[in-house]
Amino acid sequence: MTEVATPPVEQAEGQITPINHWIGGKPVPGQSGRSGPVYNPATGRQTGAVDFASVEEVAQAIAVAKAAFPSWRATSLSRRAEIFFRIRALFHEHREDIARILTAEHGKVLSDALGEVARGLEVVEFACGIPQLLKGEFTEQASTGIDVYSIRQPVGVVAGITPFNFPAMVPMWMFAPAIACGNTFMLKPSEKDPSASVYLGQLLQEAGVPDGVFNVVHGDKVAVDALLEHPDIGAISFVGSTPVAQYIYRTATSHGKRCQALAGAKNHMVVLPDADIEMAADAAVSAGYGSAGERCMAISMVVAVGHAAEPLIDAIKERIPKIKVGAGLEPGVEMGPLITREHRDRVASFIENAPAEGATVVVDGREGRPDGDGFFLSPTLIDDTKPGMAVYDEEIFGPVLGITRVETYDEALKLVNENPFGNGTAIFTRDGGVARQFQFDVQAGMVGVNVPIPVPVAYYSFGGWKNSLFGDTHIYGPEGIAFYTRGKVVTSRWPDPATSEVDLGFPQTR
Ligand code: NAD
Repeated sequence: MTEVATPPVEQAEGQITPINHWIGGKPVPGQSGRSGPVYNPATGRQTGAVDFASVEEVAQAIAVAKAAFPSWRATSLSRRAEIFFRIRALFHEHREDIARILTAEHGKVLSDALGEVARGLEVVEFACGIPQLLKGEFTEQASTGIDVYSIRQPVGVVAGITPFNFPAMVPMWMFAPAIACGNTFMLKPSEKDPSASVYLGQLLQEAGVPDGVFNVVHGDKVAVDALLEHPDIGAISFVGSTPVAQYIYRTATSHGKRCQALAGAKNHMVVLPDADIEMAADAAVSAGYGSAGERCMAISMVVAVGHAAEPLIDAIKERIPKIKVGAGLEPGVEMGPLITREHRDRVASFIENAPAEGATVVVDGREGRPDGDGFFLSPTLIDDTKPGMAVYDEEIFGPVLGITRVETYDEALKLVNENPFGNGTAIFTRDGGVARQFQFDVQAGMVGVNVPIPVPVAYYSFGGWKNSLFGDTHIYGPEGIAFYTRGKVVTSRWPDPATSEVDLGFPQTR
């Protein structure tokens, strides 16, 4: 096994570990005097203190990334591919170490954390094919003696700003294609679970990524704004909540940068009366409560059409008590805590207010949650939800599944299409014609047919519509390659006296 630094999860009781920036291939302690607490959500105990970068510290890190760019972009594609094969091997070898960091700071259960690493690894694997992905086009004899070809070149120093819910996978979605394309990268991870990004930096270095090509600056809005406004940053990728995504997109583009800002969601799962109800219930429970509902592709609303409602609700109700809630490292536990105490309390407030809005709390997750100071909330089921209720309209981002009852397919489709978010959606039916019509009609970027969390495989691209994405390109896959490169078209001719003449007219093909 390759020797790399120990993952920062082994701690003595009461110890608070400082979490430093990762700049130029080494940990760099913060100088700003500002830091933020990092918790183990399963115990409620503070385990870390993450440095918050100042504007000057971000600028210094960008200077390091800028200095690393010329030689990295000149590194041959075969060498870059070779490094990516090593990254793939090292991330795979250390997948359990990465997953343990995720469980320690995010709270998701270990099996789910391993799933996160696996889905991030798919994007690293895609990046191994960078020589093929950057192939241009060539046209011989476009005009007499003239050839035309296209090439794609890296943007320069690019930045990624990532959310708390996928502290390893979402950074991988960004830095793998960005670095493979020849850019150097600045990551500003979530301040709530920042350790995984530093550990990934150590593994990247071990794999042979030159120092300065991948850097991590921690922090809050100060660090984010410093990235958004810095003239040496060419592109910004963001994943997070809708209000922040809108702000990031506006600010980055007003500073002349390209920007892709992926945002919040309220994913509807439509269940038609002809659906396999047991399969639909399994899917709703898995996609609603997996990772405690803290997934942008989680199902938060089940739209039950006609007589699907009663058997479906019964089947979901029957499954909920069997879900084992607890600390993510405990064997057999299927659902962990929420990210912070404040977030858990916010989610609980939706349950509290639901009856006054006219909804029916069928299963109340505030009851029977694990003892102790962990940020737990058990699975909750709320029936009779409708647009206009907070529990329906807002992204709750917790283990709360809402049910909306409608009579027809058209009503269900209208609900999905009128929702301001358009990240993912799914339809459960045995009728291929209706499923095909849904795919044709629905206003969302990712659609599942009897598949509840249709996160595209790495050779397609990920992204929503409407308030779930600001910008023109989806993330990773072919659109990720397009985002992290600029196109150039070369028109060339070799010296040939026979074709040379003075001609002041606008060039035309001959
Ligand atoms: P968030 O928007 O609070 O934070 C995301 C990042 O932005 C963090 O790095 C944070 O430090 C930074 N940030 C927060 N407030 C800021 C501000 N005012 N100015 C500048 N930067 C700021 O999101 P979160 O709570 O970490 O993550 C959950 C959200 O992310 C949910 O809304 C979820 O739907 C969304 N999400 C979307 C996708 C997607 O692909 N569409 C994927 C994962 C998560």
